Amino acid sequence: MNLYDLTIHQAHQLLKNREISSIELTKAVLERSAQVEKKVRALVTITEELALSEAEKADKRISDGDFTPLTGIPALVKDNMCTKGIRTTCSSKMLENFIPPYDATVVEKLREAGMVLMGKTNMDEFAMGSSTENSALFITHNPWGLDRVPGGSSGGSAVAVATGEALYALGSDTGGSIRQPAGFCSVVGFKPTYGRVSRYGLVAFASSLDQIGPLTKDVTDSALVMNVIASYDARDSTSVNYPVPDYTKSLVPDLHGLRLGIPREYFVEGMEKGVEEVMRTAIAKLKELGATVEEVSLPHTKYALAAYYIIAPSEAMANLARYDGVKYGFSFQETESMWDALEKTRQFGFGPEVKRRIILGTYALSAGYYDAYYLKAQKVRTLIRREFEDAFERFDAVVTPTSPTVPFKIGEKVDDPLQMYLSDVCTLPINIAGIPGLSIPAGFADGLPVGMQVIGKPFSEETLLRIGFAYEQATGWGERKPPL
Ligand code: GLN
Repeated sequence: MNLYDLTIHQAHQLLKNREISSIELTKAVLERSAQVEKKVRALVTITEELALSEAEKADKRISDGDFTPLTGIPALVKDNMCTKGIRTTCSSKMLENFIPPYDATVVEKLREAGMVLMGKTNMDEFAMGSSTENSALFITHNPWGLDRVPGGSSGGSAVAVATGEALYALGSDTGGSIRQPAGFCSVVGFKPTYGRVSRYGLVAFASSLDQIGPLTKDVTDSALVMNVIASYDARDSTSVNYPVPDYTKSLVPDLHGLRLGIPREYFVEGMEKGVEEVMRTAIAKLKELGATVEEVSLPHTKYALAAYYIIAPSEAMANLARYDGVKYGFSFQETESMWDALEKTRQFGFGPEVKRRIILGTYALSAGYYDAYYLKAQKVRTLIRREFEDAFERFDAVVTPTSPTVPFKIGEKVDDPLQMYLSDVCTLPINIAGIPGLSIPAGFADGLPVGMQVIGKPFSEETLLRIGFAYEQATGWGERKPPL
């Protein structure tokens, strides 16, 4: 087996038994990157020197007996999380040369745990998109079909984990940006409960929806990363002070006693036949594993997309007001007046999708429209949350496809924003409700990956991991590697 194909827990065993060193592992991963990066382009920045020096430190820690399951393990971070002294671009011209003076809390925690940071991953500009085609730097290709998108906005993270450019990566998820690319690349993507993981140092997109989570090769690895990044953080006012369990404890390959709901509304119009077939087989498998499965109706689902595209742009418009060319980021200077400089900074610094969101958000919040759009969207949000609360009185979790389609072709939807927005129809409602969602490899349709999403009530991460683990152990879909 190639070292770059190892999971975190496999690599940890080998490191602990001194069968390999972190330096060897890190070099194997760097070589793999050099080999596949020409084809997939998942990485914005490669921190080779830093990685090698961190690997050396990790080897020292391991020989001193002072290590964690993540010590010496090569990882990548989405380029919207601050890394001290390392460029953090959000794949935008606006931040192309921005070097943060501090680490995001998640990065700090992983560094303490002994992470070997390999670099930063490509994404849709400011995390706005579902295909990574909105990156202002370059596009990323799906390793399962190089003419296809990897999903987004954490496309670089998903591709890098699928191809072995890291053993795991961090992503952020505002409406599906961890789960949808995970589904498209056949890796595990976890969006925890809103407030579970600190967002201090995450460049804000839509603050009431954003959440950080892991992209990994399997469910055990997801639990291992969650054990480190889930925590209370006083520096994030939305962080919840709720006990953090050992997530690996919930990983039992059996679903007896669990009640699962299958929501009719998620088998939407426009869903591909291949996806539907994979899902039917997956649901049968969940039954076989001991779960009771019943259909459920979540009728407000159909309003989630509309509510999201009012709430997210409204918050984005406010969050992006800070990019005025004064404090940090791109600044247009070749002009006489201050106002002209400000306008040109935003005109040249932001790409088309970001501008579209700013315009949508400004419109939705403007006098006279606020009640009709923003306030109404917030009311819809309450209805969606309550509907989920009711469902979770009867069910331990709800199971849906992660996306209605397999990875689409590069260029296919980029000129049709509405079609692009529809890619997240199954994942958005979960952010609207603030609840956790896990995407796991469910199978393949015509050789392309299909993801299954497992949703639960707030802080039910353990239940979701258990379901994912049992399914994974019984099927092993995630073990297939892309033909690169
Ligand atoms: N695709 C959705 C959007 O464009 C969600 C993105 C995300 O989760 N960051 O807003």
